[in-house]
Amino acid sequence: MDNMKAAIYNGNSLKIENIKKPMLKDSQVLVKVKSVGICGTDIAINNGHLKTPTPIILGHEFSGEITEVGSNIDPTIIGKRVTSEINSNIDFSCYFCKRGLFSQCESRKALGIDINGALAEYIALDDYLIHDIPDNLTYEEATFIEPLAAAYQVFEMMPKESNDKILTIFGLGRLGLLITQVAKQLGFQLICVDKSEKKLALAQKFGANFMINSENENEVVQEIRDLTDGLGSDIVLDTTGNPDALNEIIKSCRTRGKIHIKSTHGLNVPINLTDIVVRELKIFTSRCGPFEKSIQGLYTGKIQVNDLISRQYELNEIYAAFKSYENKDIIKTLINIS
Ligand SMILES: [Zn+2]
Repeated sequence: MDNMKAAIYNGNSLKIENIKKPMLKDSQVLVKVKSVGICGTDIAINNGHLKTPTPIILGHEFSGEITEVGSNIDPTIIGKRVTSEINSNIDFSCYFCKRGLFSQCESRKALGIDINGALAEYIALDDYLIHDIPDNLTYEEATFIEPLAAAYQVFEMMPKESNDKILTIFGLGRLGLLITQVAKQLGFQLICVDKSEKKLALAQKFGANFMINSENENEVVQEIRDLTDGLGSDIVLDTTGNPDALNEIIKSCRTRGKIHIKSTHGLNVPINLTDIVVRELKIFTSRCGPFEKSIQGLYTGKIQVNDLISRQYELNEIYAAFKSYENKDIIKTLINIS
């Protein structure tokens, strides 16, 4: 069959449509999608906060099986279980590519954001994007490889220094809970902030030292200062993408400390720059990360992801799957495609 089902965002709403299967270029592989994680970015696009070309197939955290290959690709890889990086259409020739910074390539198009993504039965992928999934990982677990790489990237961009002892994480979605686990292995003392008791309990299971429920606690900043001899946290990291949280994050950070921002979801954020300047805070950001490290973290069992899977749906239940995130206890919702 040359047709496939896909979840298409048309600029207003998300609909399942029957469309043509993608055509393969010579250096591409066709992947039959098995499982897709819904990300905050997908939600932000569907809410109209993050603008993309439309119509577009969303989805960029996924796993699947290679079913066809282009003429330049060794056909013996058909049948392999793979996941994919997000940054497609790399030119390998621009300023950034020449320095190995492919995720900043000037020609790059992000799957499911700039060009069609994986919430479909099939996706065509440039061959350099794919990574084998180790045999001991399920397709569902493998959907965490992309976000876990982003969790490792936090510490690629902001390597731990001798004064970096206390890390505070605002927001315990799947990214916050992955960063919690990576940070624990790096030896941080961890303060975790979220509205969900369920997520805070998981952070504790993953080794967080102090949990603050921001729904019950009005004085989150004061609480963090109380836990840090009145100084504030050495590093404060935001995964919430919530503009209101960012000024609290600045206030929670120790003078000469570090702020790390993971999510913006296309929102404009007014922040207190004076406080950042006067107290000489450093601002870090990070995006996509090293897949090899991420795959290794999952393969060796150092990073646990099964507790992070909150709900699983089929492709034609896409609306319910997106809606599930309105529940503050939902960490990760997967779409499984059979
Ligand atoms: Zn480039």
